[in-house]
Amino acid sequence: MRKLAGIDRGQRRRGFKPVDLVRVVADVAEVYEAVAEAKHQTFVSRTTAVPDVNGDRDLLFRAIANVVDNAIKYTAAGSRLSLELAVPRECEGNCVIRISDEGRGISAADLPHIFDRFYRAATSSGTIDGSGLGLAIVKRVVVLHGGHISVDSEENRGTTFTINLPVR
Ligand code: ATP
Ligand code: MG
Repeated sequence: MRKLAGIDRGQRRRGFKPVDLVRVVADVAEVYEAVAEAKHQTFVSRTTAVPDVNGDRDLLFRAIANVVDNAIKYTAAGSRLSLELAVPRECEGNCVIRISDEGRGISAADLPHIFDRFYRAATSSGTIDGSGLGLAIVKRVVVLHGGHISVDSEENRGTTFTINLPVR
């Protein structure tokens, strides 16, 4: 948590360096492939070459890891998850990190609140451990890097989080 101090004031931007997201995504995949495997889930990760982003490697790792952690946590054993990194042709200057699962999904009532601190869907609290802070941190890290995050979800079908980050 110490690393997040000062994030609101944008102080951390001063320490920004070129970050190779291909490496960061590979590192997240390496850790979470094992977690998914323990839950008998198939974890697929795909990356294409992308230009560096200007940022904080540790914070970006944590942000991507938090979304992947949710994908595994809120998805039943036996299903499939994916983590993708690409530079889409239609939005040059940005790279996209997409995390998809085939899990329980998020209701329309919960969707507007999931990035709020301590917010947890009623279906999560009591059944699955968590503090409701993960996505609040993800959003702060993404915004700090000049990016944005969106979510598309259907109950009992699955969820896709899309993170857009400007590249150098
Ligand atoms: P923490 O990440 O702090 O351990 P958490 O996972 O409950 O706790 P967030 O990561 O902020 O908190 O997520 C907020 C809520 O959004 C979750 O409690 C869950 O209800 C919902 N949610 C997030 N990701 C998914 C997902 N991939 N599928 C279904 N629900 C999700
Ligand atoms: Mg979480």
